[in-house]
Amino acid sequence: MIALSIRQLQQIVDGKLIAIKDENTLINDISTDSRNIISDSLFIALVGNIFDGHSFAKQAIVLGASVVLVNHKIDDKTPQIIVKDTHQALGQIAAWVRSQSKAKVVALTGSSGKTSVKEMAAAILSLCGKTLFTNGNFNNDIGVPLTLFRLTSQDEFAVIELGANHIGEIAYTTKIVKPQSALINNISQAHLEGFGSLDGVAKAKSEIFLGLSKEGVAIINLDNYRQEWLDNLKDQKMYTFSLQQINADFYASAIIEGIITKFTLHTPIGEVNINLPLLGLHNISNAIAASVLAISVGAGLKQVKAGLESVLPVKGRLYPIWLNDKQLILDDSYNANVGSMTAAINVLAKQKGYKVLVVGDMAELGKNSEKLHQQVGETAKIASLDCVVSVGKNSALISQFSSVGYHFNDKNTAIIFLKNLLKEKGDATLLVKGSRSAKMEEIINSLSDHQ
Ligand code: ATP
Ligand code: MG
Repeated sequence: MIALSIRQLQQIVDGKLIAIKDENTLINDISTDSRNIISDSLFIALVGNIFDGHSFAKQAIVLGASVVLVNHKIDDKTPQIIVKDTHQALGQIAAWVRSQSKAKVVALTGSSGKTSVKEMAAAILSLCGKTLFTNGNFNNDIGVPLTLFRLTSQDEFAVIELGANHIGEIAYTTKIVKPQSALINNISQAHLEGFGSLDGVAKAKSEIFLGLSKEGVAIINLDNYRQEWLDNLKDQKMYTFSLQQINADFYASAIIEGIITKFTLHTPIGEVNINLPLLGLHNISNAIAASVLAISVGAGLKQVKAGLESVLPVKGRLYPIWLNDKQLILDDSYNANVGSMTAAINVLAKQKGYKVLVVGDMAELGKNSEKLHQQVGETAKIASLDCVVSVGKNSALISQFSSVGYHFNDKNTAIIFLKNLLKEKGDATLLVKGSRSAKMEEIINSLSDHQ
């Protein structure tokens, strides 16, 4: 992290100092989790739904923190900085760290594929210079500041994933991140409980552009965008991308799908052939998005090719598991919404042999839940899958509307059914997918005997 003194901290958050011996003491690390405290650090006491960090403030000092940031006085002895709102102070410190960094920062959001695009962009930019990128899913109003704290003075690039489950969250994080380039990968009917409707999702995602400076680049997916975004971005430098529309600045041609997906990437700085070790057209789209982000801050085609070709499939995200030389499971159990379900069904439809969709409930869809499960069933029907197996509650509508479906209330019965099915069939692909809460990996573990 970029070190700062307690005095600087006090000025950044406009706080009150208590029991500080030396205001010049340097802070080299910041944590919100008292279990991760190291010496010379700041502990920020956040108030959460379950835990209140203030209960751990004294313990943080015992564990080596130099000072704690709190919203009320803990006692007379503990070195502390008192502010009104520790959550807001977390953001103020992150914005300061960001302002001290020379890194070229890119940010991205979207309903699906954020982590995939982030990993790909980071793989490319890491070949251009030291690159910081979001760890896992640290993409919310706490995770983004914590990510920025990891910036060092050596970082030349940073790739920051911004997620949201309510309006205003991305407006807040993007103003802290101040990205040079900002991208919306796509919008679909995800997290509807927080956003109300697809219009709500579109509005929430478009907040990412609020963090761009005048010279910043807005990046638009021509296959999935809103006209109002373009209207609001009239004076902004812009790059467009698309899977195959040749009027976009970045697009693909000569696509050959497989476990390794081949395509030619067209960009304003030239063309390059890519062998992407991932399945599905949506991953080509993700790869193009990553290329736009990387090229917008200076990457060349050589790094784009080498970076994209080094990306590995991630467990839970269309991860191929061969049961034997004829039967394949595509493990997409990490999560599900309507957009990612559709993308996954399209991948399954292109596989060889008997095609089975094994599907769990999609969560957080609010009042549209029934309609959207039904819609996925219809998508499965159009894709001419051979069999749809649903497990759970709402997913019954998926198997019902697929017209080739079987529904099971519990996983064990579904597993017995699937084991028998696999015995009967030769070439077969099972795509297993559901929301995180559906824990569909339990089915995969049973079928592949990795208990
Ligand atoms: P989260 O909101 O959980 O952080 P994310 O946006 O980071 O998700 P990924 O983790 O990259 O997305 O992928 C999640 C799922 O979305 C994967 O299972 C994948 O199949 C699907 N997916 C990835 N990219 C796309 C895309 N461009 N369009 C539709 N679905 C996609
Ligand atoms: Mg993610």
